[in-house]
Amino acid sequence: MEVELGGTRLVLAQGDITRQEVDAIVNAANRELTPGGGVSGAIHRAGGPEVTEAAAAIRRERGPLATGEAVITPGGNLPAKWVIHTVGPVWHGGKKDEPELLSKAYRSCLELAVSRGIKTIAFPSISTGAYGYPVEEAAPVALQTIRDFLKEHPGALSEVRMVLFSPADLTAYLRAWEGLTESG
Ligand code: ADP
Repeated sequence: MEVELGGTRLVLAQGDITRQEVDAIVNAANRELTPGGGVSGAIHRAGGPEVTEAAAAIRRERGPLATGEAVITPGGNLPAKWVIHTVGPVWHGGKKDEPELLSKAYRSCLELAVSRGIKTIAFPSISTGAYGYPVEEAAPVALQTIRDFLKEHPGALSEVRMVLFSPADLTAYLRAWEGLTESG
């Protein structure tokens, strides 16, 4: 799916984030910025030591990231020039500010991207793997945050891509988008 939102293309697609030809891809990182598993392991593997060493240097300098914060490293061997690392919330049932923290993670990445002159950015589905956030609940939070940001920053980005790893995740995001557009 592809829509135009005030000068920015929003794309929802199935795929592998490490293959995206965009200025920046987002990593669903852990607080220590270590490679770990899931999408983060894949990004560190594909990006190589330049990504892992830059992430480790940031960790040494500023300590562990708080949930919702974002930092940037070069993309190393990735097609993307940059990796924006953010930490999504761990799902604890929904009563521990998970939606606010998830929204903050997306927003931190978008703000960092715009501040660096990045024009095209691709996100994975933050928190819905090892961190246990149900994808049906995460999708509307992600999409509403992106939509609100684009309304507030018209034309600042040329493309925002959500890259969903599985067909089921893509379906959840497409449904969430329908729900958002129906409710205005
Ligand atoms: P978190 O710890 O934030 O939950 P995970 O990496 O465990 O992060 O999972 C986040 C999402 O990323 C999951 O939906 C998972 O299927 C997806 N994912 C894993 N590998 C890739 C990849 N190469 N490209 C895009 N998404 C991926």
